[in-house]
Amino acid sequence: MKAITASHAGGPEVMSLTDVPEPPCPADKIRVRVEAAGVNFIDTYRRSGVYKVDFPMIPGSEGAGTVLDAGADVTWAREGDRVSWTSTSASYAEQVIVGQSDCYSVPEAIASDVAAASMLQGLTAHYLANSSFALTEGHTALVHAGAGGVGLLLTQMAAARGARVITTVSTAEKAELSRRAGADAVIRYDQFADLTADLPRVVRDLTEGRGVNVVYDGVGKTTFDASLASLATRGTLVLFGGASGPVPPFDLQRLNAGGSLSITRPSLGHFLHTTDERAWRSGELFEAIVAGTLRVRIGAKFPLEDAADAHRALEGRRTTGKVLLIP
Ligand code: NDP
Repeated sequence: MKAITASHAGGPEVMSLTDVPEPPCPADKIRVRVEAAGVNFIDTYRRSGVYKVDFPMIPGSEGAGTVLDAGADVTWAREGDRVSWTSTSASYAEQVIVGQSDCYSVPEAIASDVAAASMLQGLTAHYLANSSFALTEGHTALVHAGAGGVGLLLTQMAAARGARVITTVSTAEKAELSRRAGADAVIRYDQFADLTADLPRVVRDLTEGRGVNVVYDGVGKTTFDASLASLATRGTLVLFGGASGPVPPFDLQRLNAGGSLSITRPSLGHFLHTTDERAWRSGELFEAIVAGTLRVRIGAKFPLEDAADAHRALEGRRTTGKVLLIP
């Protein structure tokens, strides 16, 4: 079968389309024909060496497709079932082997590309809005990269929970997308001469001087200081990624000085711990998509062989919503 292989840690050019043997399917796993594979920032961290993995490797951890066969111990999936998955390695391929607990049954009304586009970023947006900081009416949230994959979904979920949402984006097109997702105010953070000083000032202007209850920050290195300075007293910084690079070591005393602030650094896997939790999050996600109350934007589709271009676009801030690879 065809798969994208990354030969060693490095830039997008280390990835190429290769012929690899079809992987064996153990008794407790499911073999799926991949119809769409999601491209995520974590794929770029692994490819570049920011997160340590063994090479050569096939990148990709999410997608959707049709079950080809299921191992003898698999209790629910059968040949021909439509499924989606996350937390599964080697998804940039024509076939992938998925564990039962990482696999979700896709409702008939949801196309495979939409299912693939909603898994990792949708489940992330769900735990961010419901669990890392449980938003309710009366809260104001600042969401960085508001037109990104997580950003568009998180903005819609936060607005649906009654929160006021302020977002940051880098272009006029992204500002329009973010507004359409339900942002009450959109800030062009690319236009600031000094992001760390200017962004908190604008956020305080928008919140009668108080600051926001929560900042959802997946940008990291460049926004971290501005995020902390944008929080209200006893506010929470949810640092969930580092699209601009990792945040350097940090003096805890700054939380005291900032107003008894909290910081959490969550990861999706820890919010999909039990069968009930996975069913709750995926159930609400799929229900909202089917009902039309959650819109999943697929910003770009690349043929599988162009995975390197997909990574260049994501890392170059040229994407909106979800980026998919189509085998
Ligand atoms: P996005 O689609 O949001 O793309 C990243 C966006 O970050 C860009 O489009 C850009 O938006 C913004 N950005 C700002 N500075 C930079 C920079 N220097 N380089 C690249 N991008 C930059 O990606 P995802 O939705 O896939 O992921 C968003 C973040 O969420 C990532 O950090 C990812 O690692 C994290 N994540 C964390 C999870 C967790 O459980 N902890 C799970 C899933 C994702 P703009 O141009 O508007 O600034």
